[in-house]
Amino acid sequence: MNKLEKMNDEHHAETFSSKILKWFNQHGRTHLPWQQQITPYRVWVSEIMLQQTQVSTVIPYFLKFMSAFPVLEALAGASIDDVLFYWSGLGYYSRARNLHLAAQKLQTLYPNELPKEVEQWVQLPGIGLSTAGAIVSISFDLPAIVLDGNIKRVLIRHFLLPGYPEQAALKKQLYSIAATLLPQLNGRNYSQAMMDLGAMICTKREPKCTECPIQTNCQAYIQHLQTQYPMVKPKKPIPKLSAKWLILLNKHHEILIQKVIDLKLWNQLWVFPEWPADKTMKDMRIQCQVNTLLILKKLPVFRHHFTHFSLDIEPIFAFTEDQLSKIEQNQQWDSTQWRWVSLNQPIHLGMPLPVKKLWVQLVQTDLSSIRHQAIKEAIQ
Ligand code: SF4
Repeated sequence: MNKLEKMNDEHHAETFSSKILKWFNQHGRTHLPWQQQITPYRVWVSEIMLQQTQVSTVIPYFLKFMSAFPVLEALAGASIDDVLFYWSGLGYYSRARNLHLAAQKLQTLYPNELPKEVEQWVQLPGIGLSTAGAIVSISFDLPAIVLDGNIKRVLIRHFLLPGYPEQAALKKQLYSIAATLLPQLNGRNYSQAMMDLGAMICTKREPKCTECPIQTNCQAYIQHLQTQYPMVKPKKPIPKLSAKWLILLNKHHEILIQKVIDLKLWNQLWVFPEWPADKTMKDMRIQCQVNTLLILKKLPVFRHHFTHFSLDIEPIFAFTEDQLSKIEQNQQWDSTQWRWVSLNQPIHLGMPLPVKKLWVQLVQTDLSSIRHQAIKEAIQ
């Protein structure tokens, strides 16, 4: 019997799913926050948060998000600033923007009950086939295919499938295998079991094959090829970019921030103004609408890693001698894009992780003494 015949073998499929379900009953995770008080809304939010993010990272964000937006109506009616604030630090911010947009669409399209069909969920922003399968199977306990990275790894190893997981041909093959294996009952537990098996047993490095319920038929295990599958596409070198950020403080302990309008990176999040290499001090004064701008200190450069590039950030700490509290200026200029905010008060706006980290550092630093020191040195 060749591999494909074996996959199509009904007995094999039945054995496969029953072994997985039996293992899940004994070892699967049942304590996760989104596994309690299951509703399609909670499952959907958790599935979006879990895309490219580990369970342990997601848990605190999910809990905070749920306390701010406990039901769909709360999320649909919130401002994007509020949504991004609760997402700040979790990364991949297009997920939050799509979640917000999808909440508004769901409210209009399905005011009484959230949909039960995969085809309906994939019409919404930010929801692909696998995520839709997870939402439907876990929310409604229905059979639906889930193929996240962990599950792909299990199937690729089990059936020893060549190719890279991101290749269309392999994805198609995986979907047809997953469809064959899918049991008609226990949709929720089966999806959860497959995810758990990939995350807990069939891990990327050092899979725990001796604890695996499907070890007997696993081709990678039989041929000792676990660590060579899934095949890894050779990586291209990651480009390194750099940016200067202006940390502009005034006499009232207020800092200037700017909302990003850029579809590529951090769209609609709040950051420190960027100081492009071709801009002079005068350009920056005009841009920030201040009469005076005194550079106090260049803070150490730090690196932030993105999936496709890394960014070296050089914060430039500066001061403006302008007399007025700049918060008043928020009312006078386009405060949807520029704002002065107090360093002493908690800030309720969405910020990317490197800005948040720098912000915490600033709050803990004695900025006044840096300022006095810099002025003293300038005079000497
Ligand atoms: Fe993965 Fe090992 Fe189980 Fe095969 S036997 S599915 S390689 S954990």
